[in-house]
Amino acid sequence: MTIALHGSGVSRGIAIGRIHILDRGQTDIPEYRIESQQIAGEITRLHTAVATARQQLRSVREHIPATTTVDISSFIDAHLLMLEDAVLTQEAERLIREQQLNAEWALKQQRDALVAVFEAMDDAYLRTRKDDVDHVVNRIQRILRKPSPAAHEIPDSKLIGHIILADDLTPADTVLMQHQGIAAFATEHGGLTSHTAILARSLGIPAVVGLHEARRYIHQDDQIILDGTRGVILIDADARSLKVYQDRQERESKYYSGLIRLREAPARTQDGTHIELLANIELPRDFDTVRVVGAAGVGLYRTEFLFMNREQPPDEAEHLRTYLEVLDKLNGLPLTIRTLDLGADKQVDGGRQKGSVQSNPALGLRAIRLCLKEPSLFLPQLRAILRASAHGNVRLMLPMISNTQEIEQVLVIIDELKADLDAAGIPYNKKLPIGCMIEVPAAAICADIIASLLDFLSIGTNDLIQYTMAIDRVNDEVNYLYDPLHPAVLRLISSVLRAGREANIPAAMCGEMAGDKRNTRLLLGLGLREFSVHPANLLEVKETITESNIDHLQTLAQQALFARSSKEVDMIMEQMNSGLF
Ligand code: PEP
Ligand code: MG
Repeated sequence: MTIALHGSGVSRGIAIGRIHILDRGQTDIPEYRIESQQIAGEITRLHTAVATARQQLRSVREHIPATTTVDISSFIDAHLLMLEDAVLTQEAERLIREQQLNAEWALKQQRDALVAVFEAMDDAYLRTRKDDVDHVVNRIQRILRKPSPAAHEIPDSKLIGHIILADDLTPADTVLMQHQGIAAFATEHGGLTSHTAILARSLGIPAVVGLHEARRYIHQDDQIILDGTRGVILIDADARSLKVYQDRQERESKYYSGLIRLREAPARTQDGTHIELLANIELPRDFDTVRVVGAAGVGLYRTEFLFMNREQPPDEAEHLRTYLEVLDKLNGLPLTIRTLDLGADKQVDGGRQKGSVQSNPALGLRAIRLCLKEPSLFLPQLRAILRASAHGNVRLMLPMISNTQEIEQVLVIIDELKADLDAAGIPYNKKLPIGCMIEVPAAAICADIIASLLDFLSIGTNDLIQYTMAIDRVNDEVNYLYDPLHPAVLRLISSVLRAGREANIPAAMCGEMAGDKRNTRLLLGLGLREFSVHPANLLEVKETITESNIDHLQTLAQQALFARSSKEVDMIMEQMNSGLF
């Protein structure tokens, strides 16, 4: 009988293959008392295991494939830092000395104490750091139990074509497995915003996470189908399902590799309307993919990753160096640098405000609010963006704007910085375009007023939907309400696009909604002319654009605005997507 398990699809694609279960949980951690004459030896055993773990991670870091597009070293460095932190070993050492516990059990006590502290935190990002503690501690535990493992624990050649199932995977595991030719991975834990999920997407490995208790139903070497697009795995699929998935897999792989033919093609609709098709980027290395897919530039450069996995935020020189590196790669194409959007679910450390924990981080001191409160974070970045503007086609974008005061405050700061640069004789683009994200309903409703102050707008649907629907975008339990097709969301989008037209400034969209080709025609019909999407989605959106006729889409898009539910919108969209519109 076929069993289907549902989790979260974090990286698209279908894989069919045998399961390799990585059973590395903590279930069999030995607990015993040692004799007093064994204490010194036990402490040495602990330290040797920590040193071996460090050595393993360094070796992983050296083996990161040169073709990897994301900055994986920083993930691994975070784990190395944790291994160097005395907080992990000092307490375990005390327990060995004073309570005569064995090293494994002493380490487990310290792991439990640290995890409890992280779990009690309201901040979603900090809560996910407990996974890092687990990854690091599990590595040491495995070494303690098996003192001379291979440099890494994933058997090399055996993995080609396998689907890995684990309780959780570290970023280091993920890199190694990609190198070893795995077909996909599934984990029992982990969410959409985990480091491992981000890596899977960037590495192009199909992945499903959050398959609670999957190991109760799956056995080593079972044949399974993993659908990373829909977040499902099928165990013991019958011949018919297998055939359906094999066909889909073949179709999808042909489809995606065939899309490259559109790389140089203009993003123009059937009726001759030119559409600006830009890319969303997170790390300097991702800029290579901008060229691979032929994007017309970068519509959203999320700079949070510059602040990630470090204690101190970057200074002006580091910001500038990074932006110049990126501009160099873009070779004249526009680069929209979004200023720091730290807070809520964002995976960053550097510059994280110390002190009080916020009970509703998504509604709290994040993004522009935090930057205006902490000039030491904001000013070096603004100055660096200004300076970078002398060397390329730079635009500056502000996140999470909710009123005009915030914009006015930033404009005053920028004027002051410009005066400083003038006084120092440092060049910058005096007409640097300044725009903002529209991702708070208040800003969407007043987009006409905001448009009068700025040079461009960009709709951030990820947050706009979260705030319109009053749901936390990282909360599994209310995810079902995350609905891009809700008429309220469409009305807000439509009024922002109108505000842009009336003010004669570009109004783009850079949220995930713009990268889903099922929405492309609806958005064209609503008046969107500038899309900024993940590079992996860019060519499929371009294909849809080239097959669309805006004249035909406008009437249906207007009907969608007056639909009574997203179900009705869905039906209208089906109509739009079925024919040659
Ligand atoms: C958005 O909110 O749609 C957006 C693009 O910003 P982020 O996902 O970085 O919050
Ligand atoms: Mg946002």
